[in-house]
Amino acid sequence: MPHRITLIPGDGVGPEITEATVRVIEATGIPIEWDVKEAGIGAAEKFGTVLPEDLLDSVRSNRVAIKGPITTPRGGGFRSVNVALRKALDLYACLRPAKYHPGVRTRYDNVDLVIVRENHEDLYAGLEFEKGDPAIAKVSELCEAAGMGPIRSDAGLSLKIISEYGSRRIVRFAFDYARRYGRKKVTAVAKDNIMKYTDGLFFAVAREVARKYDDIIYEEALVDNMTMQLVQKPERYDVLVLPNLYGDVLSDLCAGLVGGLGVAPGANLGDDIAVFEPVHGSAPKYAGLNKVNPMAMMFSGVMMLRHLSEKGAADRLNAAIAAVIAEGKRVTYDMKPSLDDPTAVGTSEVADAVIEKLRRMD
Ligand code: NAD
Repeated sequence: MPHRITLIPGDGVGPEITEATVRVIEATGIPIEWDVKEAGIGAAEKFGTVLPEDLLDSVRSNRVAIKGPITTPRGGGFRSVNVALRKALDLYACLRPAKYHPGVRTRYDNVDLVIVRENHEDLYAGLEFEKGDPAIAKVSELCEAAGMGPIRSDAGLSLKIISEYGSRRIVRFAFDYARRYGRKKVTAVAKDNIMKYTDGLFFAVAREVARKYDDIIYEEALVDNMTMQLVQKPERYDVLVLPNLYGDVLSDLCAGLVGGLGVAPGANLGDDIAVFEPVHGSAPKYAGLNKVNPMAMMFSGVMMLRHLSEKGAADRLNAAIAAVIAEGKRVTYDMKPSLDDPTAVGTSEVADAVIEKLRRMD
C-alpha cells in the first residue's frame, strides 16, 4: 500500500524545492501517492480563500503532509496561512532540529540540538488590535484601574497568551520526544523575570512536568542569556522547549549555527497529524530562478519518512544528502565559500546529485 501524503508546494521558491524534494523521496523507492493541494495567493485567486477546506480535509484524512513555504504579506493583508494551517489542524508542536553536517560552512562543528516551539499561543495567538481600535481604550481602562497606567492612544496592541494547558502539552511533547530519541536534557527557555504571569506560568508548568521524567535532566534559561549561550557553547544544549515567539527567533539562530536556512528542516505536529516543512520562507526574490537550496525541504522529507516508520529510506536519504554536502561540489550558492561562486549549481541539480548518491547505495 502506498503512503498517501498531502503535498502543498506553496509559493515563491516553494514549487521548485518541492519538485526537487519529491524526486529524491521517490528515488528512495518508497511508494507514495501525492495528493497535491494549493494554499496562499494562488488558492485565493482560484478558490476565493488562501486556505481551502479541501486542503484541510486532505491533511485530516491522510494525516501526513509536506509543504513548501507560503508568503505572508508584511504589516497588512491576509494573516499567515502557515499559522492558520497549524491552528486549523491543532498542530501545537513545532519541531526544528539543528544538526551539524560535515562540509557545511559554519563556525561550529558540534551542534546537535532540537527546538520544540509551542505553535498556538503567545504573541502569535492572533489577538491583536490596530491603533485606534476602541478595544484598546477599554484595555487601557482596565490597566489603569489595576494601577498599571494607561496605554497610549497611538499604540497598537498584541496580547501575549500563555496557558497551563498549552504549556503542559508542549513541555510534555518535548520530554516525550527526548525519551523517544534518546536525548538527555530538556531546557525550558522564557523570560519570567519580566513576564511573571505568562513566562512565569510556562516555567512553573515545565517544572511540574519535568518531575515526571526523572530520567531526563531539566534546566531553565532566560531567553536573552540563551541567545548568547547558543552562540558561545551550542554543544551544551540538547532539547530546547520554548513559547512561540522565542521558539521562532531561536530556531533561525540555530539554523545559522548549522549552515543557514538552506539546510534547516522542520515539522508541525499534533496528536495524530504531522505537517513537514523547511524553516525558511518563500524567498520571493529567488522564485523561479532554480537557485535556492532544496536541502531544508529534503531534510524535512527525511523527518517525514521517519514519521512514516520508513527508517531505512530515511537513513539512506539522509546519508545521500550528507554525502552531497560533504563533497561540496554540487551544492547551491549558500553552501559555497562566496555567494557569487560560479561553481554553485541550481535547485534541480542538487536533486540530481542526491539521486546519484542514492543509486550508488543500492
Ligand atoms: P525567507 O526565509 O524566505 O528568506 C530570507 C533569506 O534567506 C532569503 O532571501 C535567502 O537569502 C535566504 N534563504 C531562504 N531560504 C533559502 C534556501 N532554501 N536556500 C538558500 N537561501 C535561502 O524569509 P523572509 O524573506 O523573511 O520571508 C519571505 C516570505 O516567506 C514572507 O512572506 C514570510 O512571511 C514567509 N515565510 C513563510 C514561512 C512558511 O511558509 N512556513 C516561514 C517563514 C517565512
